[in-house]
Amino acid sequence: MLVKKISDIFDTKPRTLSFEFFPPKTDKGRDNLFAAAEKLMELQPDFFSVTYGAGGSTSKSTLDIVQELQRRHDIPVMHHFTCTKHSRVEIREQLNEMMASDIHNIMALRGDPPADEPHYEPGPDEPRYAFELIKIIRERAGWFTVGVAAFPEGHLDTPTKELDSLYTRVKQDVGADFAITQVFFETELYRQFADRMAAAGITMRLIPGILPITNYQRLCQFCETCGATVSPGIHDTFSPLADDLDATGRKGIEVVTEQCRTLLALGAPGLHFYCLNKPEPVTTIHNALGDWRA
Ligand SMILES: Cc1cc2nc3c(=O)[nH]c(=O)nc-3n(C[C@H](O)[C@H](O)[C@H](O)COP(=O)(O)OP(=O)(O)OC[C@H]3O[C@@H](n4cnc5c(N)ncnc54)[C@H](O)[C@@H]3O)c2cc1C
Repeated sequence: MLVKKISDIFDTKPRTLSFEFFPPKTDKGRDNLFAAAEKLMELQPDFFSVTYGAGGSTSKSTLDIVQELQRRHDIPVMHHFTCTKHSRVEIREQLNEMMASDIHNIMALRGDPPADEPHYEPGPDEPRYAFELIKIIRERAGWFTVGVAAFPEGHLDTPTKELDSLYTRVKQDVGADFAITQVFFETELYRQFADRMAAAGITMRLIPGILPITNYQRLCQFCETCGATVSPGIHDTFSPLADDLDATGRKGIEVVTEQCRTLLALGAPGLHFYCLNKPEPVTTIHNALGDWRA
């Protein structure tokens, strides 16, 4: 692999294109993921990322998929890693394993409690927040590029947007290199968020996370799980099409392409697509945008 670290890409490219995968539960799902990655390589993405199940439930498969994507393609792959339910000892062991596997990019997250333990309280040797995980990662100096999560609407549990900016600033101060945002739909939200972060002294890249719209019910479920608001405009546009997946897909491409175009015009430093392990519709959206990384 020529470039191993995402931060090295930032040195030469003002905008990046990236795709996020999740570890599938079946062999067929795994084959589909690799087929999707192969198709998406035609778009010359800058990096891929692979999510990590709450409480470490996918730790083996995340590592395995990151390794396999790196083996098959000449591209950095970011390993998502959540600290919930991991002791500092376990975290250091997993970091050693990643280093032994030539993994140089981590998305450092707190994670959410597992569904069957919604009120989980971390033990004395478990980090409570993502910034504590970043500190452990930085014991390895510059081996890893570190991405973090950021929230255009503010994190669900943070009392104010100002505090949310401060907590994001702490993540930058202890070593985060860039952030990817939670899903959002109104581009105005991103503009306000970028201003708020700049006012808090945040200079790292804030790459918008983009969710393609293909199914209204699933979109609502997805947003409910991650605490993102489905805006009135999205409800008004997509609820009448709820029973017509073809019409939803066509409209989704139109709406999301426009969202991306506006974000790039606002100065967004790239697009990170939650591709849900599928090459479409993100390929169509990307191609409709033209040569936006020139
Ligand atoms: C792009 C992206 C990718 C994601 N990938 C995954 C994934 O792969 N697996 C997964 O399980 N989840 C994933 N998530 C979800 C994420 O784990 C949850 O949103 C989680 O609730 C917050 O994680 P965080 O890293 O932002 O936590 P933190 O930054 O630790 O914030 C969590 C809470 O703690 C509070 N807080 C933060 N710092 C401080 C501080 N210094 N002092 C006091 N309070 C503080 C915040 O207000 C917030 O309410 C992802 C989210 C995003 C946006």
